[in-house]
Amino acid sequence: MQKKATGSTKRTKYIFVTGGVTSSLGKGIISASLAKLLQSRGFTVTIQKLDPYINIDPGTLNPYEHGECFVTEDGAETDLDLGHYERFLNIPTSQANNITTGRIYQSVIEKERRGEYLGKTVQIIPHITDEIKRCIQILGNLHNFDVVITEIGGTVGDIESLPYIEAVRQLMWEFEDDCINVHLTLVPYLSAAGELKTKPTQHSVKMLLENGVQPDILVCRTEHELGTALRNKIAKFCNVSSDAVIQSIDADTIYEVPLLMQKEKLDEVVLRKLNLKSKTKLDLKKWEQFLFKLKNPKKEVHVGLVGKYVELKDAYKSIAEAFIHAGTGIDCKVIVHWIHSEEIFAKNVASKLNNLDGILVAPGFGSRGIDGKIEAIKFAREKQIPFFGICLGMQIATIEFARNVLGFKDAHSTEMKAYTKHPVICLMEEQKSIVNKGGTMRLGSYPCALKKGSKAYKAYGKVNVEERHRHRFEFNNEYKDAFEKAGMKCVGTNPKSGLVEIIELENHPFFVASQFHPEYKSTVMNPHPLFVGFLKACAQG
Ligand code: GLN
Repeated sequence: MQKKATGSTKRTKYIFVTGGVTSSLGKGIISASLAKLLQSRGFTVTIQKLDPYINIDPGTLNPYEHGECFVTEDGAETDLDLGHYERFLNIPTSQANNITTGRIYQSVIEKERRGEYLGKTVQIIPHITDEIKRCIQILGNLHNFDVVITEIGGTVGDIESLPYIEAVRQLMWEFEDDCINVHLTLVPYLSAAGELKTKPTQHSVKMLLENGVQPDILVCRTEHELGTALRNKIAKFCNVSSDAVIQSIDADTIYEVPLLMQKEKLDEVVLRKLNLKSKTKLDLKKWEQFLFKLKNPKKEVHVGLVGKYVELKDAYKSIAEAFIHAGTGIDCKVIVHWIHSEEIFAKNVASKLNNLDGILVAPGFGSRGIDGKIEAIKFAREKQIPFFGICLGMQIATIEFARNVLGFKDAHSTEMKAYTKHPVICLMEEQKSIVNKGGTMRLGSYPCALKKGSKAYKAYGKVNVEERHRHRFEFNNEYKDAFEKAGMKCVGTNPKSGLVEIIELENHPFFVASQFHPEYKSTVMNPHPLFVGFLKACAQG
């Protein structure tokens, strides 16, 4: 049997996570939890997501379709599961961690145009599957991780997933002892029968077997405990050892899942199947401390999140998680009130926002809900309620201040109004000629220098920081002096371009807004300083 040639002495182990029966079983959280356990045993681990859709990346997808678009350090617009990977593992991901069918086909077609297939007919097998296999191995080969966990999006049996499952089949054959498959299924409870049912799991494993993949471990999502008899039954029907039938029961918080998986010995079974020995003794002390604090808050803080996708919580996933990390850090339970920006008007703003300890205005695109956001920010500014604006939230804070303090009544962003006398937010010169929508924004990590003495500086405790961006429009520097004279200070700027990255209001308990997205960098082990600063101000109110 062919063996892997990595060019390094160490062989990377691959874990393929597939799903059956239905979507939304929590493959991302299980992958992140398994990775956390292996990391806590001394291994270097990363997680990759393969998405079977044809878009090149989720950057052009509406949040209603796909939830939040997560942005990596290197400026890749990726699936929101990568946010979970970073939050759990506390290490950055990159473009190589998220591959889509669109990207696979794009690269194969470009190779074909360059004549690299030497006159051969280009086919799904071997050309598409080879490209998938190459993408799976990039992280192992280039970065030399001990373990790469590859989560395959979608469900076994989907037409779109077939080439991915085929690539997994081939790799499991080629790499023999260096690969395993963890398959997630559902064990539903039928209340009329009063029973848990294993048949969907059996069918799903059969479908995987039809595609040539024998799962090594089954993670069974369930609302009730799986007894020994049931585990044995699943093991027998699906050719896995009974200790490899792992129960994944609903948890109060996703951050409990690593501990639940540890209780089920998922990590131990994985190590055994991969012929690996734990590098260090499992150490989850810090994680357990976080969980204890999360479950035993000393205070409650009520924060309003104003946005236009509030009916779809996944659209603001990283913000919601950043609140959990930062809140836990200061012993506070953050209760997020999701407020639709289209439902805020001058006449109801007080009743909608009055009882809140703080207000966050969310990122976004387009003009829907803008007026409500302006009202919310005006209210927070005038009533001295802690305010935090992110990206579009910062741009709207700029517009609100220009209109209501500087008196530029028609101030706007050229995103919403192409021609206005006071374009306080406008396109940068280099953005003006761009016509393609995908991957053309200001994306990824950029440096930002903070003004000493500002609230932002106080929160970070240092001058130079780096934060991730995803936007086209910018603060118009022609208005900088007017803003600063009136008390809205530009306290964070890009040291090279001079672009304004953070604005902050004087004489206000906390009114800070950033052009970048701090939420992408918040993790369990490193809550984001601006979220902590904002919540501290909220808790004092
Ligand atoms: N629509 C704004 C821009 O493109 C803000 C984007 C955002 O909030 N991510 O500049």
